[in-house]
Amino acid sequence: MEIPKDHPRYRSLVIRERLVEAYKQGILAPEGLIAHGRGESFDYLIGEKTIPSADKAEKIAAAMLIDSEDHVLSVNGNVAVLAGESVLKLAEIVPCKVEVNLFHRTEERISKIANLLEEFSEMPILGRNTTARIPGLDQPRGLCEEKGIFSADTVLVALEDGDRTEALVRMGKNVIAIDLNPWCRTAQAATLTVVDEVTRALPRIIAYVEELKENQQARKALLESNIMKTVLDEAKAYIRNAR
Ligand code: ATP
Repeated sequence: MEIPKDHPRYRSLVIRERLVEAYKQGILAPEGLIAHGRGESFDYLIGEKTIPSADKAEKIAAAMLIDSEDHVLSVNGNVAVLAGESVLKLAEIVPCKVEVNLFHRTEERISKIANLLEEFSEMPILGRNTTARIPGLDQPRGLCEEKGIFSADTVLVALEDGDRTEALVRMGKNVIAIDLNPWCRTAQAATLTVVDEVTRALPRIIAYVEELKENQQARKALLESNIMKTVLDEAKAYIRNAR
């Protein structure tokens, strides 16, 4: 479909079109389109911009990533299609691993998403060789790579299912979530939740990684600030007061 450039919702329509195309190519599950719609409604409520609490969370997320030893960015179909290039850029500058991990898992989709990500970087993309399982999750949903998500101390997830986030936290991992809905189970369970749209959040986290990389003192202060849960409450208050 040809989308007129002067349409007031041009960006949103282009993104929808990109997701529909990815669905037709078998990269995205139909449920991914529904998840996107849920995200759009929350984005509308926050004015489709990065709110102050998200900015704080993005800075802490950068500090957490730099100071973790074994960290993985978990990627699903929506994230790969919307922000694959940013994911790989973040993985390169931290540096950390990238693993494809799907709720509606099929080997074909894992491979299509990994291929898509491989266009952005030479880095190995994990997710095809799943010999480990996240305890408490059934077969396809729990599968992950032994040297990836299974052994990581910090996992960044975006648009993630609440069950899996809870299971990762039960394993003792730090989970950084990017999710527009501060009331969803993922947002509640994660160690730190960035309530922002994934294509806005990742470039901002990248910029903060660049800013904080050589500043250990600033990172220490951020990680000791103890505002991981406060930023989530602030996001909820922002939405409650928004309209
Ligand atoms: P949970 O299982 O955590 O309670 P849910 O059932 O709503 O949540 P899903 O539908 O699996 O979760 O995932 C979609 C989530 O991703 C929603 O919370 C939605 O707000 C969020 N989301 C969708 N699109 C985006 C986006 N582009 N950026 C950030 N978050 C998004």
